[in-house]
Amino acid sequence: MEKIDVNGKIFPVTVIWTKNRNAYARLRNETIIVSMPSRWPEKDREKTILSLVKRTAKEIARGRWTAEGSKKLEFFHGQRIIILGKELEVEFIQSKRFGGKLKGNKIQIKIRDHQEIKKKASQLVSKQIVKAAKPEILARIEHFNSQYFNAEISRLTLRDNISTWGSCSRVGLITLNLRLLFMPSEILDYVIVHELAHTKYMSHGKRFWGLVEKVLPDYKERRKWLRNNGWSVVPNSVDQQNFFPYGIDK
Ligand SMILES: [Zn+2]
Repeated sequence: MEKIDVNGKIFPVTVIWTKNRNAYARLRNETIIVSMPSRWPEKDREKTILSLVKRTAKEIARGRWTAEGSKKLEFFHGQRIIILGKELEVEFIQSKRFGGKLKGNKIQIKIRDHQEIKKKASQLVSKQIVKAAKPEILARIEHFNSQYFNAEISRLTLRDNISTWGSCSRVGLITLNLRLLFMPSEILDYVIVHELAHTKYMSHGKRFWGLVEKVLPDYKERRKWLRNNGWSVVPNSVDQQNFFPYGIDK
């Protein structure tokens, strides 16, 4: 497959072969790039590429790649962020030095001039958000892991990722997308359970989904929500959480 038509606009398709374990697609500079593991079974390659391209086309049609989802998170002074039901406020403080810390409900970021170094400042905020949220996320992972999986979890990483919601390596390294923190906890839990299920089954087969369903009988709803809304979620404000169909943690 060399190109695909999305609502009258042609998007070229490029396939790159990688050493990664997972296949995925993303949009870069108006080109659909499909990353394929080189050890993917020959007979499934065509089918996988086709389905990834189709899914990406659907996402493009829905505005996923033109929206917030295609760029790194940005934070600003005075911004109020809700993470797992807890409100935090971003405060940029002018200083000769860079640095960030959590003080009460404030994320204090020392910067020289936040206009010039917006990106750097946002990275510092992300770092503090990770710090604030990690204990709670580890507790959630432990909650599901001890009940259903009993897997060895070596490390948890939270990342401002623009291509995946999560991943889990064979050695129990779990990576989650930072954006999940700004979503209802039900969605975060779904991704946690999904990744934990990968410690038992690497591919998305019947047994994999059966296991996810055993833990979260309504996982399909959550997955659908994530697909439809996930990439347009921004860590903005209280209002934003109102459109969620799920309840918010108190
Ligand atoms: Zn998966």
